[in-house]
Amino acid sequence: MSILITLNDIVVSFDGEKILDHIDLDIHDKEFVTLLGPSGCGKTTTLRIIGGFITPDSGTVTFDGKKINQLPPYKRNVNTVFQRYALFPHLNVYENIAFGLRVKKLPEKEISKRVQEMLKLVGLVGFEKRSTARLSGGQQQRVAIARALAIHPKVLLLDEPLGALDLKLRKEMQIELKRIQEQLEITFIYVTHDQEEALTMSDRVVVMNGGKIQQIGSPVDIYNEPVNAFVADFIGESNILSGLMIRDKLVEIGGRQFECVDTGFGENTPVDVVIRPEDIKLVKPEDAQISGVVESVIFKGVHYEMLIDAYDFRWIVHSTQAAEKGSAVGLTFVPYDIHIMHKMPKEEYPLRGIEPASEPEDTEEAK
Ligand code: ATP
Repeated sequence: MSILITLNDIVVSFDGEKILDHIDLDIHDKEFVTLLGPSGCGKTTTLRIIGGFITPDSGTVTFDGKKINQLPPYKRNVNTVFQRYALFPHLNVYENIAFGLRVKKLPEKEISKRVQEMLKLVGLVGFEKRSTARLSGGQQQRVAIARALAIHPKVLLLDEPLGALDLKLRKEMQIELKRIQEQLEITFIYVTHDQEEALTMSDRVVVMNGGKIQQIGSPVDIYNEPVNAFVADFIGESNILSGLMIRDKLVEIGGRQFECVDTGFGENTPVDVVIRPEDIKLVKPEDAQISGVVESVIFKGVHYEMLIDAYDFRWIVHSTQAAEKGSAVGLTFVPYDIHIMHKMPKEEYPLRGIEPASEPEDTEEAK
């Protein structure tokens, strides 16, 4: 796929505070890209730069090979769908969808053709005359999507468009949006703080934190190979521990040594170690290097989530088999499931989830 949009070394500050800190990003033609990160990380600001609503302090925005820093929004071949649908309450469904086409002064026949196409695309044929006040939240969002797409933009920007819908409807709309994007073969740039939503729909996910891009990759890459503890924590639940890379393929956690598959971290290097809850197996305590006591067991629908106290660390374990609360268990995992990462500076740890594990010297005491 060819590159459609490039953000090159973008910096944006508000009130002296750096909101985007040297962002570099290529977006390909016909791609579904999601900007994912916690509230305030700069996702919407990035989207607004692409839409032309904010001009960066420095850096360049390129669209189809042309620099567009100064090009006003209405001259860009993009359109936006917001979380609040912003439909026109005095216009019916047909006129809402037709709005941008009338502004462009298209002939009535063409307007009618496009509105019908859009109604079909979003599953609202027959709703033409309905007042938007008499639509459900999901239907209103469909009208907003149809209205944005009717002018045939090359890129659709979507800023948390499903945020106001309930969970079931949100999941339905996620599948719908992906279908629409594939059917129309246009670029979607989607903003969300919901990691599951990002993994479900995207070709590529851009994980942001503190105005910086942490990682760009396919959902599978981001989930299986997070580049640092922040990404690992934000994408799904994780056990994140301090470790010491003894040498290639050998890591020490809590004073015990484990074979792993990572190389290139040098010798005796402090690292972050990530082990996913679903990759840990519970066995008899005597059959494992690590043993602990089951602190809690919660049924989560598909699996049980157990918290296990072992070596000053509360391990999260997901399994379809429940262990008994208070019982002693062993924890095992295979080398492939131990993910080694460069240590993140403490100030870059996110507010939620991660408790920076103690340094290796401290964990020696836990032996
Ligand atoms: P959310 O998910 O909460 O919308 P976000 O990742 O989209 O968050 P942005 O909306 O890009 O974050 O905002 C990033 C930071 O910039 C926030 O701290 C926000 O308060 C600040 N900010 C955004 N717009 C402005 C503005 N016009 N003036 C001053 N500060 C702003």
